Amino acid sequence: VSSPLGNVGLLIRNLVGEVGERIIVLLLESKEALSDEEIAEKLGLRINDVRKALYDLVKLGFVTYRRVTRRESYWHSYKWYTNEMMIAQAVLRRKREVLKKLMQRLEFEKENVFYVCPLDGSRYSFDEAFENYFRCPRCGSDLVEIDNRKIIENLERLIEKLRREIEQDEKALSSRPV
Ligand SMILES: [Zn+2]
Repeated sequence: VSSPLGNVGLLIRNLVGEVGERIIVLLLESKEALSDEEIAEKLGLRINDVRKALYDLVKLGFVTYRRVTRRESYWHSYKWYTNEMMIAQAVLRRKREVLKKLMQRLEFEKENVFYVCPLDGSRYSFDEAFENYFRCPRCGSDLVEIDNRKIIENLERLIEKLRREIEQDEKALSSRPV
C-alpha cells in the first residue's frame, strides 16, 4: 500500500490514521490555510472526524493553525496549514521517540533474566522464579532460562538502522533553505 506522502507516508498513517494522512496531503497541496469545514467538504468527511484528526495532527506537530476573528461577530474560527519542513520535523521527532523506547527496551533485556515454563509457556522474572525455587507455580515443571540474545541482536540492529536514518534526516533538514 503506497502513500502519496512517499516513504514516510506509512509511518504517518500509522500515527494519525488514514483521515490524518488525507488531511496532510490536502494541506500540502493547498496554497492557503483551510478551515475545518473546508477540509471536511473537500475530503467528503464528517466534520467531527476531521476535528478529531486535526487535534492529533497538531499534538504531533504535523499541522498548525492560526485563529481568525471576525470582527463584527467576535466569532473565532481556525485555519489549518502545514508545509514539508513541519512534516519532516514531526517525523524526525517521532523517530527520536521510537529510538529512545528501543534503547530502554534493550537495556531492560540486557539487565534482566527471564524464565519460562516448558510445559505451559508462562514467563517469569528472575525474582519470581527464585521465589518459586525455579519451579513453575502453575504446574511444578522446572523453569528454563530464556535466551534473549536474539531479541537483543534484533534490537541492536533496529537501533543502528534508526540512528543512521535520524542522522541523515538531521543533515537533510539542516541543509534546507529556510
Ligand atoms: Zn508450568
